[in-house]
Amino acid sequence: MEDETRELVAVPIVPIIDESIIPKKGLKNEDPLEQEFPVVEMFYSIQGEGFHVGVPSIFIRFGGCNLACSWCDTKFDEWENITLRQIVEKLESWDCERIVFTGGEPALQDLETLSQVLHPLGYSLAIETNGTIELPEGVVDWICVSPKNQLYTSVKIRQCVGDELKVVWVGQKLSMYDDLVAGFTHHFLQPMYEESKDAAWNGINFQNTNEMVKSNPKWRLSLQTHKWMGVE
Ligand code: SF4
Repeated sequence: MEDETRELVAVPIVPIIDESIIPKKGLKNEDPLEQEFPVVEMFYSIQGEGFHVGVPSIFIRFGGCNLACSWCDTKFDEWENITLRQIVEKLESWDCERIVFTGGEPALQDLETLSQVLHPLGYSLAIETNGTIELPEGVVDWICVSPKNQLYTSVKIRQCVGDELKVVWVGQKLSMYDDLVAGFTHHFLQPMYEESKDAAWNGINFQNTNEMVKSNPKWRLSLQTHKWMGVE
């Protein structure tokens, strides 16, 4: 099976973000509904990439991340601390039972309390994580790990099992995921997409990732369709 490194636009090794700006977990409260969480935004949309592409989902974007990827297009450094009661009230304004925790890095949050409150309300919980923080068992129903260790020489992936392994392909050897693939049911390669670049620049990444998947058919292609539609 081909596993060559193709030349793509150089992606710099980037530093891990200063941990002092990561929001602290809200203090445990006797009433979990009064516990606070740092929320950047909540919105109802369609899952645009990966296994659940096309599935209506509510996204909760939590503040803070422990990494600082060069292509990151999410504004996770400005959030509002709101209670879980406020989160539930907002959730109830949408007719959807699938929630995706995203960020930033949602594994920084108190997932046990979120599960304790949201599961009995009938919500299915998915998480999109960079995999650097091991998740507590049984708190979410779908785990998507999108490792960024191709960018960070010192980062270790600690969440090594899940449903979906989604790799942003920037030219790295796929053999670097040999220890991870067995722990996941579905495997996706996704081209890096930079909104600041033009269609030709991004098109090279699309085409190269397409060729990489054809050469490594155990992986599937994931495209960020929500970006084409111009929705979140
Ligand atoms: S891990 Fe995700 S949210 Fe964090 S900086 Fe990288 S791309 Fe952005």
